[in-house]
Parts: sequence; structure tokens; C-alpha cells
Amino acid sequence: MSFRGRENQSHPYGSSVGQLIDQFATLPGIGRKSAERLAHYVLSIPEAEARQLADAIIAVKQAIHPCKICFNLTEHEVCSICADPRRDKKLVCVVEQPRDVVSLEATSSFQGVYHVLQGRISPLEGVGPDDLTINALVRRVKQDGVQEIIMATNPTLEGDGTALYISNLLEHENVEITRLARGIASGSVLEFANKEMLADALQGRQRF
Ligand code: ZN
Repeated sequence: MSFRGRENQSHPYGSSVGQLIDQFATLPGIGRKSAERLAHYVLSIPEAEARQLADAIIAVKQAIHPCKICFNLTEHEVCSICADPRRDKKLVCVVEQPRDVVSLEATSSFQGVYHVLQGRISPLEGVGPDDLTINALVRRVKQDGVQEIIMATNPTLEGDGTALYISNLLEHENVEITRLARGIASGSVLEFANKEMLADALQGRQRF
């Protein structure tokens, strides 16, 4: 939660410092105290170093975009996983976020490819199927001869609902739909699961 109500407050050093603190405070996991600490750190480093930090943020925003096949993040048109001829293109693991790909890749136990939904269906937050990459997934299944879809959405109410929606959509396609085994505690998210847990979940995947 950011401190919107306290934005633009005056700072003894000047308003630019106040603005920097406000920006840091919008970052996930950063409270007001940490934001102040980070701002003071920036004040203490040489300008060249501060510029490297700012440039790195801009560079990542300019260079990184979704893979045109799987929507994982990449600096190229197609991500390194989709471009790898050793990966099994007939086996597609469906995840909510690019960071879930990073978590699953760390297990080194998956040889297929991915499809990143860019979120999950969440009526409360106004996120519907058309806001996600579900249509592109259905196209992949129809056009690329996909044989198995592994649902690896988070084991939450919304993640399960999204997986169910997709499996219903693909009901009449010639594709097997499995889901990760519940080595992952219900209600938790992939990002925080450890490698062993994720490897088990992949191994023990079940029919949807
Ligand atoms: Zn890709």
C-alpha cells in the first residue's frame, strides 16, 4: 500500500527528495521508512552511480517485452525457451506470470514450453478472460499440435477458476489437460514454492 495521502509532502532538503521517497514507497514491500533509507542512499552515492541505476530501470523497460509465442518476457521477438530446439513444443505449461516461468525453470525438471496468461480471471478486480492471453493459448493448441497442457496457475480460488475456465474451453480439442500435483500448499503462490516442491508438483501432475 502506498502513502498516497502523504505524497508531495515537503522535505527539509527540498521537494525532489520528497518525490523520490514517494516513488520508492510505491515499490512492493517498501514502506515509508525503507523508502526514506533508499532515498538517503541515493543522496550519498556519486551522480554517475545514480545514473547507472536510473538507466538500468529505463533500459529494462525499453528492451523487455512479451515473447510473441508464449508471452514470457524477453529482449527478442521470441524468448530463449520457445527458440530452444530441444524443448518439447507439444507440452505447454500454463502459468499466470513470467516470474512463475523463472520459478519452474529453476527446478530444471521441465522440458516443455510455457504459456504466460499475464494474470488470472478475477471478477472482483475486473479482470476477464479477454484481458488475458487465453485466446492466443487456444490458437496455439489448435495450430501447433499441442498434445498436453499442464495447468500451473496458482492454487488459489482465482487460479483454480482460471484453470477450470481454460480446460472447459479446450474440452473438445484433442489435447490432454493435466494440473500440477498439490505438493504446493493450497492458497500459496508458485513464486514462493521451493524447488523441490515445484519439481514434485510437476512430476505428480494429474489429469484435470
Ligand atoms: Zn516464448
